[in-house]
Amino acid sequence: MNKNKSQKKYRKIRKTYLWLTVIEFILFAVCMTVLLVYAARNIGLYIVDSKMAAEYERIRYMGRLYDESLKNKESNGYSLLEEEGLDYLIVGSDGRILKTHGKNTCSDEEGIVTLPGYDEEITIYKDSERGYIYPGRNKKLSLNILEFREWLIDEGFEDDEIGLADQVVKTTGSIELPIWISTAVDNGKEQLICKAVFRASDNDVDMFAGIVIATIVLAGIILIVMLVTAIRNIIRQRRMLKLFFTDVTTENHNYTWLLVKGEKMLRRKAGKKNRFAVVNLKFVNYNTFCVCHSAAEGEEILCRIDRMLNSRLCRNEMCAHLGSANFGLILKYTDEEELRKRLESIIRDLEATDTNHKLYFRAGVSLTDKATDDAGNPVNPRSIDFNTEFNHAAMARTSMGAGDDSKIAFFDDRLIEEQKWLDKVQEKQQAALDNEEFVVYYQPKYDPRTDKLRGAEALVRWISPEMGFVSPGKFIPIFENNGFITEIDHYMIRHVAADQKRWLDEGRTCVPVSVNVSRAHFIESDLAEQIRDMVDEAGTPHEYIEIELTESAFFDDKEALLSTINRLKSYGFAVSMDDFGSGYSSLNSLKDMPLDVLKLDAEFFRGEARDNRAEIVVSEAIRLGKSLNMRIVAEGIEQKEQVDFLADQGCDMIQGYYYAKPMPGNEYEQRLQ
Ligand code: C2E
Ligand code: MG
Ligand code: MG
Repeated sequence: MNKNKSQKKYRKIRKTYLWLTVIEFILFAVCMTVLLVYAARNIGLYIVDSKMAAEYERIRYMGRLYDESLKNKESNGYSLLEEEGLDYLIVGSDGRILKTHGKNTCSDEEGIVTLPGYDEEITIYKDSERGYIYPGRNKKLSLNILEFREWLIDEGFEDDEIGLADQVVKTTGSIELPIWISTAVDNGKEQLICKAVFRASDNDVDMFAGIVIATIVLAGIILIVMLVTAIRNIIRQRRMLKLFFTDVTTENHNYTWLLVKGEKMLRRKAGKKNRFAVVNLKFVNYNTFCVCHSAAEGEEILCRIDRMLNSRLCRNEMCAHLGSANFGLILKYTDEEELRKRLESIIRDLEATDTNHKLYFRAGVSLTDKATDDAGNPVNPRSIDFNTEFNHAAMARTSMGAGDDSKIAFFDDRLIEEQKWLDKVQEKQQAALDNEEFVVYYQPKYDPRTDKLRGAEALVRWISPEMGFVSPGKFIPIFENNGFITEIDHYMIRHVAADQKRWLDEGRTCVPVSVNVSRAHFIESDLAEQIRDMVDEAGTPHEYIEIELTESAFFDDKEALLSTINRLKSYGFAVSMDDFGSGYSSLNSLKDMPLDVLKLDAEFFRGEARDNRAEIVVSEAIRLGKSLNMRIVAEGIEQKEQVDFLADQGCDMIQGYYYAKPMPGNEYEQRLQ
């Protein structure tokens, strides 16, 4: 599992909802505020507008009445105005105040101004109480009102000293504001100017209060909506995180959880006081269990394992199911032995969870306080990488071979070296084959009685320009695992056949050379034909090639093996059993397979002194082979006494350092007469 991706996704889930909530909140709040302010402003303006319009209309109406009364000379126009209770002043055509009424507070000081860009002169008056300047001519004013204001400001008047007539004034409205209104009334001689007062009534105050309350209520609703949204989003985020961290099988924690939370915990808590181990625990025979029972039963077992593991955890310890039959654990420990015992006890309990079936478990352990970086320096607990630790634990687990009895393995830096080697070999194998870096070495086999050369075994060597001389023990097991061994075996048969042909053509006395054929090859049903064709290609007579099968090859499909052996023999190849005695079913194989040669494993001849029991076993094995009409070859013979003993027992050939080590072809050919 990719840690960076998991952590990125985790942060994304957290961030998405956080930002979504914030953006949602800001957008909603901005929209609602704009809407509320706009509505409040319009309502406010509407009130002011309607109040002012009414007042203005009243004055205009009075102005008209006044005009009419003057024209008709019916009565004194002033009395009409006074009945209405209006403050007013009458201005003569020269701008002088002819009459004032009420608290007009207006002096007759007037000035005549000409606005820039206009020819017409405007008479202005001054309110002595409030210090306002107001214009006298409404008609012109409505065109130049803004310029007039600017002009006044330029002239040194303060902004609040300027009172303007007509609607423009409305925008400066407050609860009670006197406004001088210059009516359009002008009978040629006089002009009527009235003072109106803008008053907000209780109703207006109520309406304003209503607007304020409505705004507060709306703001409250917005807040509640936002709160609900935020809570909903947090719940949603929690749910998503839960899904993100939940294993579908066990419905408990998954690997991502361990990766994200486990690493965080390790970095926070790990130290000298708290030592942690990362464990990879596997239910080894899970697949077999599922095949023999059912996938559903398999999953049920996994749930039980998960529950059981979780019940064994202490504070700051974690466990998760990783998929398939793998579990990951973070455990605290004080010393390795104690941890091993604890894991053994856990495995014992796990294996006992189902008494009806045999369950096998294995655990790989990586101790985080022993972690080192690439340069071999200890890793700071604050930068522990969980993935690396887990991979190490998994590597330790897989380092236990199939036939290995152990159940717990601790990670060791050597495992990394092995892994690196494995990678290197696999990366280079094909190029090495193409470049003929694999070289055939020959180890002669001698007749112990006559000391004459009777045969040889072809053994592969890898002479790499980069890695130097690589012994087969270091690469054959890898090739056997990855299947590349079949390529090597083909390569060897071709080269040996070609060498034999060349030596025969040169007139040398050739002896049969045995070639190892790996068990991996035996899945191919036409193996005998493949070998025949390769040898025929070189034009080598078949009696000069012998095929060695290791004992492990005999575990496979017996029918197929028997058929291949029979066909090889029918084509004239001798077939030998390599390493006889190193496995367990040798005798069985001898019983079933019509082999030509028996190669006694070198292990028979290991050990310091001559061992009586070993000698008995060897002599009996030779006898057994002989009675089955087989030739006997003893491998790994290094001492003269061994040669003498084997000669006495009737062993046909000896292959060992006593006579010769494996050697390159040009050296070997010297031994051919
Ligand atoms: P093997 O087929 O049993 O080969 C005999 C091994 O014993 C060889 O090791 C040989 O060098 C070694 N040996 C022979 N005499 C003595 C002795 O007196 N003392 C000691 N200590 N060792 C002796 P080698 O060459 O390292 O090969 C190891 C194994 O690798 C072989 O065991 C064989 O299983 C495999 N192998 C080698 N070449 C090939 C090949 O071309 N194809 C396949 N499939 N396997 C090969
Ligand atoms: Mg061999
Ligand atoms: Mg052998």
